[in-house]
Amino acid sequence: MQNSPIHPTVDFSLDGVQHGFLRLPHSRDDSAWGAIMIPITVVRHGPGPTALLTGGNHGDEYEGPVALVKLARNLKMDQVRGCVIIIPFLNYPAFVAARRTSPIDSGNLNRLFPGNPEGTVTEKIADYVQRHLLPMADYVLDLHSGGKTLDFLPFAAIHLLDDKVQQAACEAAMRAFGAPYSMKILELDSVGMLDTAAEHMGKVFVSTELGGGGTATRDSIAIADAGIRRFLIHAGVCRGRKTVPPQTTLLDMPDGACYTLCEHDGLLEMVRNLGDIVQQGELIARVYDISRTGVPEKRYHAGRDGILAARHFPGLIKSGDTLAVIASMADNPQQPQESDSLKPLAP
Ligand code: ZN
Repeated sequence: MQNSPIHPTVDFSLDGVQHGFLRLPHSRDDSAWGAIMIPITVVRHGPGPTALLTGGNHGDEYEGPVALVKLARNLKMDQVRGCVIIIPFLNYPAFVAARRTSPIDSGNLNRLFPGNPEGTVTEKIADYVQRHLLPMADYVLDLHSGGKTLDFLPFAAIHLLDDKVQQAACEAAMRAFGAPYSMKILELDSVGMLDTAAEHMGKVFVSTELGGGGTATRDSIAIADAGIRRFLIHAGVCRGRKTVPPQTTLLDMPDGACYTLCEHDGLLEMVRNLGDIVQQGELIARVYDISRTGVPEKRYHAGRDGILAARHFPGLIKSGDTLAVIASMADNPQQPQESDSLKPLAP
């Protein structure tokens, strides 16, 4: 296959702290021989495992980028045994544009793996991760959140894998991350994901959904900061005392009933909050016609018992949007307290 056009300005084999770029040639109207400069930090210190930490896979998700720029600024060589590769803004054109997808080619990086060295800009980034970065890594942490259109309970996540030894290693790393919630996730659409690429290579892979709405909060960033530190210590790539991870609530997304898809365009009224415990058939949202008044609202009900783990964020919703995700709380030794809002709501 064709060599990647991406050229790193860092040397992954050298000990020390290097701040540089993945340089991706991109000839365009405002820069004839220009390049896209994707920031990268490599901290290497002798032999040991390699951890790859990525944010900005989607350009409108901010906990990963904030936590990773801080880590890149602060991580010292003597804190590392092995190598930490930090890329806070992986789909850099999307990140700069504050968009989920690239403004150059509309590429959704997390749907384009394994990528293509002769393809679009976003396909070239995916190909570089696939053929150059993932093979170097033992542990991979890809930090996501809901972006502008979704909001999530803060969770770290793994997928159900055929290789149960690998799945157990991923689960141990997810628990070490120690987010308030930990999810075994069923993807509606796993083709082309960085997750799938890393898992197929046998890597210990953890992703997250730490919030959403196109911003990040003090609390969601704190979860990312602490989780990254514990993940690196768990991987054995950073010095630090392994402590008992904070308590996490285990969630499952075992089937398609977890997803409530909207079938109408309109104005959204959520009647349950993230974290609320709901029963199957219970009202979770109303959608109002915005073309006229006096029309009955459309009602959306929980497809299963569980906890409201994600919701559509903007006030307007369209047919085909994911309105809510209800995760199962089975197998949890300690269930969270029900919130006040569990009381029946007025119709
Ligand atoms: Zn994402």
